[in-house]
Amino acid sequence: MAKYIFITGGVISSLGKGIASASIGKILEARGLRVTLMKFDPYLNIDPGTMNPYQHGEVYVTEDGAETDLDLGHYERFTHSQMTKFNNVTTGQIYNSVISKERRGDYLGKTIQVIPHITNEIKERINKVKEVSSAEIVIVEIGGTVGDIESLPFLEAVRQFGLDTGKEQVMYIHLTLVPYIRCADEVKTKPTQHSVGTLREIGIIPDVLICRTEKALTPELKEKISLFCNVRKEAVIEARDMESIYQIPLEFKNQILDEIILSHFNLICKYSGLKDWEKNVLEPLLHPKSKVTIAVVGKYIGLQDAYKSIYEALTHAGIANDTKVQIRKIDSEDIEKQGVDKFLKDVAGVLVPGGFGYRGIEGKIKAIHFARQHNIPFLGLCLGMQCAVIEFARNVCGLEGANSTEFKPKTKYPVISLLEEQKKIKSLGATMRLGAYLCTIKKNTLAKEAYAKAQVYERHRHRYEMNNKYRRLFERKGMVFSGIYTQKNLVEIIELKTHPYFIAVQFHPEFKSKPDKSHPLFKEFIKAALNVEVNKGV
Ligand code: GLN
Repeated sequence: MAKYIFITGGVISSLGKGIASASIGKILEARGLRVTLMKFDPYLNIDPGTMNPYQHGEVYVTEDGAETDLDLGHYERFTHSQMTKFNNVTTGQIYNSVISKERRGDYLGKTIQVIPHITNEIKERINKVKEVSSAEIVIVEIGGTVGDIESLPFLEAVRQFGLDTGKEQVMYIHLTLVPYIRCADEVKTKPTQHSVGTLREIGIIPDVLICRTEKALTPELKEKISLFCNVRKEAVIEARDMESIYQIPLEFKNQILDEIILSHFNLICKYSGLKDWEKNVLEPLLHPKSKVTIAVVGKYIGLQDAYKSIYEALTHAGIANDTKVQIRKIDSEDIEKQGVDKFLKDVAGVLVPGGFGYRGIEGKIKAIHFARQHNIPFLGLCLGMQCAVIEFARNVCGLEGANSTEFKPKTKYPVISLLEEQKKIKSLGATMRLGAYLCTIKKNTLAKEAYAKAQVYERHRHRYEMNNKYRRLFERKGMVFSGIYTQKNLVEIIELKTHPYFIAVQFHPEFKSKPDKSHPLFKEFIKAALNVEVNKGV
């Protein structure tokens, strides 16, 4: 019998519910339990795949090709659980499924209502995740803030789930804000009281409160929260702002949150600390021996969440190299306006992330040109690879005006183009090349050195591909196609022979990087960048 933990959020959004959920997963895994996590998103989109990154942040892609919320990235980074298309459920999916069933006649003439039809559908999704993951603990994060209209059906469903399943199988954790009012020099508990009150009205009584706070919670304050919110005192957990999100599991563990959860469920598990995490992740992260500056040249630079997994993967590569990776975020349109030198002359590496649409492309191409010519380590991801191909075509192969047909459909040299099968597709949702594909790595290449494997699976999310018509010419000019999806003969990795570290990939390696297992391409990228720094110092 699995146990279920439902995590809700109160007072305001952006309290870090995803990281709190992932951290709880981590401390329970450390006790030897098999965990999985899932996220409910109250919006009406079927998935975030069609949303603007400024609205939603990064779209995280799972191994099985689902376009999901970025919190699933945290779940995979903090735990061993593998996310699938079942682990992210939106209101859009729930209604879509219920309405299809109604049209098929599955409900035998009944009136279809939020209770019980929508709530039943939600409960089925929880059971589905339990079934496919065979986890002992299922952690369910409910998006939005308690009190929102949109999240009500999810809250009602998880209330019912508790009743159906039995109290000792289910636990409710509420993440809340305990704000500090500077002019009064006081920490306030009222918003927490109100949000717990709202939860109680819905019929959910939280077993644990996780309090986001700037200031330490005194024992008196904890007592007050405990009394007013009807939660045991030791179950009032303080979650103070930390230097790194990777410290949170340890903070929870220090407040015996794992014990509180286990005793709620009457589970007896082996005792275990987070020693490896402390030694291999936190120590190099918090006390690095050196520092490198990496430029990320993108279009959604203003929003921290837009390149979430990339920033995390860079941090992981820093951990693996015992170095701090300082990220310089550069808007590629600024390079177009102000030139490239000013932004890149003192960086140790350049990363160009994925993206869509023409805006900012020429700036990215300029940045790649600069990195290639100045022997600065370069890592291109998805669109970043496509820009590297365009740059090489224009400036090395003499194909003036070469472009991707995404940006210039009638370009004379379509070095990046659509496969025939993609040309027929009209609908935008879930129609890209998505999820994990096998990539075969060529011997004696940077890619082979980094991966130390002949075959790898990497996750994709794109429509356009390197045009095979140009491969011979490119090879003659010094480009190496070091990774191929052999089944369809598609280019997955490119690199340059005459450069210390110039590598670009059609996939998204950032989705598979973990704090204690840096992705090889990122790890080698930072290693190469460190050499630049060292050389500079000489
Ligand atoms: N826009 C490009 C394509 O669709 C790249 C996509 C990406 O970077 N994720 O192929």
